[in-house]
Amino acid sequence: MHPILSKAKENMATNRTFTMIKPDATGNGHIGSILADIIAGGFTIKAMKYTHLTAETAGAFYAVHKERPFYNDLVSFMSSGPIVAAILEKDNAVADFRTLIGATNPAEAAEGTIRAKYAKSIDANAVHGSDSDDNAAIEGSFFFSALEVH
Ligand code: ATP
Ligand code: MG
Repeated sequence: MHPILSKAKENMATNRTFTMIKPDATGNGHIGSILADIIAGGFTIKAMKYTHLTAETAGAFYAVHKERPFYNDLVSFMSSGPIVAAILEKDNAVADFRTLIGATNPAEAAEGTIRAKYAKSIDANAVHGSDSDDNAAIEGSFFFSALEVH
């Protein structure tokens, strides 16, 4: 198999998840601490970029939530400042990452989780984590080509 095709195939693997450090956390100086927690949690960084979503790209990323009452606020928040997007690898990546970040609402997030430590509210909740292997692959390929995953 050509190396580019095998990289594309690897991106479908079940030991990967996708994350974003959201605009509240990039703006509050928490990028370094959050990345340190992610690495201490046993995750390996496979791809990473610092970027800024537009309302259009944030809307496309969160299209699954289009009918939810908070969709417009979510899109404007996610396009309000820069984000860090990354593909992470670990056994059982999706579930273990959601454990590491804690509940969506930081008031309900377990002590020591990333959202408990760095998030202020349910919308400004510091990080995104994929909710399934399929979505991890879709979300990773939204931001990264096969050639950008190492
Ligand atoms: P994420 O997908 O960002 O990792 P999640 O999977 O914990 O978060 P989702 O249900 O997918 O939660 O919601 C996506 C995002 O929409 C949440 O992270 C949060 O910022 C926002 N959100 C969810 N529920 C609400 C709500 N009731 N009010 C305001 N914002 C909300
Ligand atoms: Mg979600």
